[in-house]
Amino acid sequence: MNPIFSALQTSVFEVMSRLARETGAVNLGQGFPDDPGPEDVRRKAADAVINGWNQYPPMMGLPELRQSAATHFKRWQGLDLDPDAEVMVTSGATEAIAGALMALITPGDEVVLFEPMYDAYVPLVRRAGGIPKFVTLTPPAFGLSEEALAKAFSPKTRVVLFNNPLNPTATIFSEADLDLLAAFCVRFDAVAICDEVWEHVVFDGHRHKPMLSRPGMRERTVKISSAGKVFSLTGWKVGMVMAAPNLMRVLAKAHQYITFTTPPNLQAAVAYGLGKDDSYFEGMRADFQRSRDRFAAGLTGLGFNVLPSVGTYFLNVDIGALGESDDVAFCQRLVMENGVAAIPVSAFYAEGAVKTVVRFCFAKHDSTLDAALERLADWR
Ligand code: GLN
Repeated sequence: MNPIFSALQTSVFEVMSRLARETGAVNLGQGFPDDPGPEDVRRKAADAVINGWNQYPPMMGLPELRQSAATHFKRWQGLDLDPDAEVMVTSGATEAIAGALMALITPGDEVVLFEPMYDAYVPLVRRAGGIPKFVTLTPPAFGLSEEALAKAFSPKTRVVLFNNPLNPTATIFSEADLDLLAAFCVRFDAVAICDEVWEHVVFDGHRHKPMLSRPGMRERTVKISSAGKVFSLTGWKVGMVMAAPNLMRVLAKAHQYITFTTPPNLQAAVAYGLGKDDSYFEGMRADFQRSRDRFAAGLTGLGFNVLPSVGTYFLNVDIGALGESDDVAFCQRLVMENGVAAIPVSAFYAEGAVKTVVRFCFAKHDSTLDAALERLADWR
C-alpha cells in the first residue's frame, strides 16, 4: 500500500454528505446544484446515447468539442487556441489535474499551493513525487503578497497549482495578484496549472481573467475547465485542458494512460452547450447571484458574519467573530442539532490553521435555502 494514500481520511465532502443523509439534514456541504442543468444540453446527450457513436472517441476528445471549446474561450476570454494542438478533453477537471502533475513533475520538484485549497491537490502532488510549498491565505481577502510568494518559490519550483475563482473562499484573484504570480513563474521557470472550473460563476459584473493571457504565461500555463459547473452537471465529469503544444504533447501522454477517453455522448452535448448564446451564461450567473443574495441576507439576519462571495457558488461565514474557535465542532453541531450540513474550511488547510470559517453551498432552490435558514434560526 502506498502510505500517502493509505493515510488519507475520507474526503470531507463524502463525510458531510453521508452525515446529511443519515440525519436528514439540509445538505449545503458538498457543492452541487439543485437545478438539473439545461434541458437542451441533457437532450443532446440522450440523443447521442441512442443515435450516436458509443465506442471509443478520439483520445484527445471529439473534434467538435475541441473546436467548440476554442471558439468558446475566444468569445468569452479572448484566447486564441488551436483546437488541434492546444485543446484536450479529460474525464473531469480532477483527471486533468492528476495527469498534469504526473506529466510535469519529477520526484523532488517543488509545487507551490495556496491554502485553503481543494482537497485533491495535496495528495495528488505528493503521489506524483512533488513537494508541496504552501502559501497561506487568510480571511477576509485571501489575497497574495510578494513576500509570501518569495518564501514559497525556489529554484526547485516546477509548478504552481491553483484555483481561480477559488473554492472554498469564494474569492477571485485580482489582476495584480495574477501578474505578480506570473512574474514569479517566469523568474523561476515554473508552469502554472490553473484550475479555472468556476470561470463562469462570477458575480457583481466581474469577468474571469485567465492565467494563460497574463504576460509571459502563454507558453507556461495549463488551463483546466469543466462542464460540471458551467452547466450544473457535476456528475458528468467532462473536463477540458488548454495549453501550448509543447506542454500539451506531454499532458496527452498522461491522459492516454489514465482514462484514454471520455464518454462521447457527453462530449457531444458539452460541444453543443459551450456554443449556447450569451443569455444562457448571463442567466446562470444572475440566478446564482440571486440565490447568493437571498441566502446572505438570511444568514446576516441570523447574526452570522458573512464574508464576501464574488465567485463559485459558496458563501462563507466567519465564526471567529462569534467567539467560536473550532469550525469542525461547529459543523458537527450544525448538522446534528440544527439539521444543516456545511463544510469546515479548515479541511482545506494543510499548515496554516484557520479554524474559524464555515462554507455553505447556495446553488439551491429558494425552498431549500429557506428551509436551511429556518433550521439555523436557533443556531446559537
Ligand atoms: N467540488 C465540490 C465542492 O467543492 C465537491 C466535489 C467532491 O465531492 N469531491 O464541494
